[in-house]
Amino acid sequence: MDPRLLVAISSSAPSDRATAPPGPAPMLAQVAYEPPNPNGEPKACANCFLWVRSASCLIHDRKIRVGAQAWCSHHIFGQPHNDWEPHNIRPVDPKLSGLRRAPGGVACDGCTFYEPVALEGGLCFGTTDGAGGPGRVEAKGACARHTPIRIGMPSAPPMEPR
Ligand code: SF4
Ligand code: SF4
Repeated sequence: MDPRLLVAISSSAPSDRATAPPGPAPMLAQVAYEPPNPNGEPKACANCFLWVRSASCLIHDRKIRVGAQAWCSHHIFGQPHNDWEPHNIRPVDPKLSGLRRAPGGVACDGCTFYEPVALEGGLCFGTTDGAGGPGRVEAKGACARHTPIRIGMPSAPPMEPR
């Protein structure tokens, strides 16, 4: 991580940032924070190891259509699969994984909790560093708490069954 991110800056939040829910903020490890993709792309099913190019996800129910421009908090960077791989795992509940449409992909620099410090990263007011300050994150990282910055826009509709 860029050492400039270790410099503490103002903890006052801009007025357009979403208000964090009451109670102690979680630490990055508690929100499944994932560092940036090695290629720097925002995170999406199209660059997830668990995606199947015929629009399925190996860990969700095969009947749920998952397009290339969707995302969930279980994202793992890697080459998607060309075909479905039979397995015996119990499908993940999309309500718990946060599966949703995410045009353009997901990254901290598109999250309402993000405050840039440098080009490479900044502060996350949706998490804590464990010492009373905000979490320190990378611009193209992401976590389960990602909240799109498009304030006032309706949320993307839920994924449709096939
Ligand atoms: S739904 Fe989640 S786990 Fe499945 S392919 Fe998309 S990002 Fe990966
Ligand atoms: S800025 Fe948003 S996506 Fe990034 S760690 Fe914080 S809450 Fe998660």
